[in-house]
Amino acid sequence: MKKTFEAIVVGAGPAGAAAALKLARAGVDVALLERGAFAGEKNMFGGLLHRMPALEELFPDFWNRAPLQRHVMKKNLCFMTDEASFTAQYETEAFDREPFNGYTVFRPTYDAWLAEEARRASATYLTRCTVDDVITDSGKVAGVRLLRDGGELRAPVVIAADGVLSFVALKAGLRRPQFNADQMAVGVKALIDLPKAAIDDRFGLVRDQGASVEYVGCTGGVRGGGFLYTNYDSVSVGLVLHIGSLRDSGKTPYDLLNGFLAQPQMAKLLRGGRLLEYSAHVIPEGGYDMVPELAGDGVLITGDAAGFCYATGLNLEGINLAAHSGILAADTVVEARAQGDFSASSLGSYRRKLEQSFVLKDLKLYRRAPKMLHIDRLYEIYPAVLCDFMDRVYRIDGTPKEKLAKLLLNKARQRVTTRELLSDAFTAWRSV
Ligand SMILES: Cc1cc2nc3c(=O)[nH]c(=O)nc-3n(C[C@H](O)[C@H](O)[C@H](O)COP(=O)(O)OP(=O)(O)OC[C@H]3O[C@@H](n4cnc5c(N)ncnc54)[C@H](O)[C@@H]3O)c2cc1C
Repeated sequence: MKKTFEAIVVGAGPAGAAAALKLARAGVDVALLERGAFAGEKNMFGGLLHRMPALEELFPDFWNRAPLQRHVMKKNLCFMTDEASFTAQYETEAFDREPFNGYTVFRPTYDAWLAEEARRASATYLTRCTVDDVITDSGKVAGVRLLRDGGELRAPVVIAADGVLSFVALKAGLRRPQFNADQMAVGVKALIDLPKAAIDDRFGLVRDQGASVEYVGCTGGVRGGGFLYTNYDSVSVGLVLHIGSLRDSGKTPYDLLNGFLAQPQMAKLLRGGRLLEYSAHVIPEGGYDMVPELAGDGVLITGDAAGFCYATGLNLEGINLAAHSGILAADTVVEARAQGDFSASSLGSYRRKLEQSFVLKDLKLYRRAPKMLHIDRLYEIYPAVLCDFMDRVYRIDGTPKEKLAKLLLNKARQRVTTRELLSDAFTAWRSV
């Protein structure tokens, strides 16, 4: 087997496959290494694929070629307690027209397709190929060592696209060995089989229309939230739980997930469904403050490996940031190759490209969003206040009413002090 390349990309997720595709299209002799039997074999997400203009540029017909499920045109935010829920829904015909605003996808098919496109563009795509270490020459990354037989592959530049626990970034000395538990979340998901007609009826959809729901108040007080995405004939439903808060609660992800699925309104939505599979994965949720050094001598970091993922409570974005950063890393390698210089200072233009793009701009803009997610009352108390309030608004039982603003304040004061309320409102305001 060939042992030397012009570039090596570790990990064939959305970041790595996009990087390898862009490099191959630019005529770079690139190897794309994936530890799974195929790309996406063990990858999971919620999952909504958002628009990715840089990837769409590589495929003008991206949305027709990629293996997609439903286009999402209904977005819901639901606050829930053990027995009640209050949902705000945004629905627009504009999201029902091309170019669609986002699709649900299955990672095993989507990731495998994108990696195959990189191979078709002439990348050397190797599966069951786990990178165990980086090779250095005079302090510069010069290739990777493989787990299976200790074999080595060499290249003057390596792109780390190996996901949130990036081994390559660690071995290249670009990230610390310990993660901060407050910056990491774990996602647990159940895939539930339901006939297309049942999904269409329950969510008010026709044709290939899809819906998404983000839930607050379904995590037993643990920091995090729930999600539901409609696929063609199944739904993906799960929880994202902050690891530090989960550890302190002593609760387990599967107990919390089972509780969420058993909540009466959830049980109604999912009735008759058959569980197809469970999966779990870690998510970097520290935002801008957890982004590590992005370039070293002979190495660049992309996607989740660089912490390019963020949640505002309304959206969870990761794949679009991964694909965009992969493409910018590839552009940087093409420029460095033209200059014959893969030093950290030459590869430093990668960060500048990211700073000019939505990737670092959005992460910077929402830098304080993780702080809002640390308001513990958001996860049990405020959803209960809202549901108490709605209960009183809609309950007509012959007792005198209160003015709505006063009613809301009274319902809040039954569960939080004025000081806590003001402090939470201030934190939330500053965060977003
Ligand atoms: C529960 C959950 C819900 C989410 N929902 C959404 C959503 O709705 N929308 C959204 O945009 N994002 C979502 N995300 C985030 C999104 O999944 C990630 O941001 C995205 O997958 C990052 O892509 P990546 O290519 O950087 O890393 P990954 O997708 O993790 O890919 C890394 C690849 O590297 C391979 N690899 C790892 N180590 C090695 C090694 N040593 N050698 C060789 N190969 C290796 C892995 O097998 C994998 O294929 C969600 C995440 C989770 C967990």
